[in-house]
Amino acid sequence: MTDFDVVVVGGGPGGSTAAGLVAADGHRVLLLEQEHLPRYRIGESLLPATVHGICALLGVRDEVERAGFVRKRGGMFRWGSDPEPWTFAFAASDRMAGPTSYAYQVERTRFDTILLRNASRLGADVREGHRVLGTLRDGGRITGVRYLDETGRERAATARFVVDASGHTSRLHHDVGGAREYARDFRNLALFGYFRGGARLPEPDAGNIVCAAFGDGWFWYIPLSASLTSVGAVVRRDAAARVQGDPETAFRGLIADCPLVRDFLHGVPRATEPPYDRLRVRKDYSYDRTSLCCPGMALVGDAACFIDPVFSSGVHLATYSALLAARSINSTLAGLVPEERCFAEFEARYRREFGLFRDFLRGFYRLEADQRSYYRHAGHVTGRDDRTAFLDLVGGVSSTDFDTLGEVLAEGAQLQMRGLLGEDAGAEPPMFPGGLVSTSDGRRWQVPDA
Ligand code: FAD
Repeated sequence: MTDFDVVVVGGGPGGSTAAGLVAADGHRVLLLEQEHLPRYRIGESLLPATVHGICALLGVRDEVERAGFVRKRGGMFRWGSDPEPWTFAFAASDRMAGPTSYAYQVERTRFDTILLRNASRLGADVREGHRVLGTLRDGGRITGVRYLDETGRERAATARFVVDASGHTSRLHHDVGGAREYARDFRNLALFGYFRGGARLPEPDAGNIVCAAFGDGWFWYIPLSASLTSVGAVVRRDAAARVQGDPETAFRGLIADCPLVRDFLHGVPRATEPPYDRLRVRKDYSYDRTSLCCPGMALVGDAACFIDPVFSSGVHLATYSALLAARSINSTLAGLVPEERCFAEFEARYRREFGLFRDFLRGFYRLEADQRSYYRHAGHVTGRDDRTAFLDLVGGVSSTDFDTLGEVLAEGAQLQMRGLLGEDAGAEPPMFPGGLVSTSDGRRWQVPDA
């Protein structure tokens, strides 16, 4: 008898989603988070699939709505060879039109806390201030974790499954085998900070993300509230020297090189209260893994992979992979589908979603191209018509075609529908020939009817 059915490592969006969805299915879940929430995280611009799909499945959509985060209806790009900025709106995609045509710009201190408290409400045993040191193993299977409790005492917890959701600093990801592979073409650095205010686009686009290219990279400009703006420079590796030395001087210099952001911030002071009072640097954040799971353990979110922030896909990929892991665990524990088949589905869907963003981003980084060619590239990657393909990709609800199956909705669109309609969303077709489909409540896999 194990102590728990599942141990989840990390209380970010990935961990809280996995823990909540497994606990809600009636299983014994322990979530260990090394910090105490609220705690700071970068990754503030969300996608509609997270807000209307995952948050609805978790039963937390209304609470997130009430939190009053800024509504993001799309984005503005000053990118490529177009001298003029261009805007996209989620509402222009038939997949997101109507009540799901927006996402939020969130302060992660608050958003992550809502999700973690919700995991606890759904029945997970959430312990903050508990740091996982390593896994326990029995032959080829991971059987639990070793951790330090709040008093600094080393302890162990056994479980049928471990979910590593401990983010980019994961100490456990090696234990599934394979290797982390850093993306050679996305070896950028990010230098970011916060401002007390700043210009806003006219309504209804005031909450949109702005991405503006400049000589050595590009900037994000994210309105987190009327008086708080997240601003980050993503600098190409060959210009990395610009980020060495005093970060304040470097940041000022980079902003001066990007007229759009410089003008938006004209005369606006930096934020001075924690956690927004300092500049931060991140590098080596774009990577994939050759293995995403092994018997007894799955990696989700940044513990597994992440790719460049330009399309705000991090929280989407973290919560989506957590949903896939939760379905696989719930189905195995319920004896519905063999474990191997569940995790093959987990890995195939996760790789497909990550691959869509990665492949599209490769073309998007060709800065000499224009809006029309970016749309064409999205069409090529997803197999849909160009404009819709772009919108669906950047909303996390993209789709693809398979020769024998006709059009198959990607998880994002299914998620949104399931979040909105619940069981009325009806049966979903398998994503891969011979693959599994979700149950009507979205929490487990089942073998599709022949
Ligand atoms: P995290 O949010 O990192 O959570 C992991 C948790 O695990 C943390 O709370 C940590 O304390 C805990 N933990 C770590 N180690 C242990 C341990 N040993 N024991 C117990 N707990 C542990 N994404 C977006 O969606 N939108 C954006 O606009 C965006 N912008 C970004 C900009 C930059 C520059 C970068 C680098 C990333 C950006 N991202 C963005 C990505 C986003 O930050 C991540 O993808 C997202 O936070 C991943 O969620 P997660 O749950 O996997 O991990």
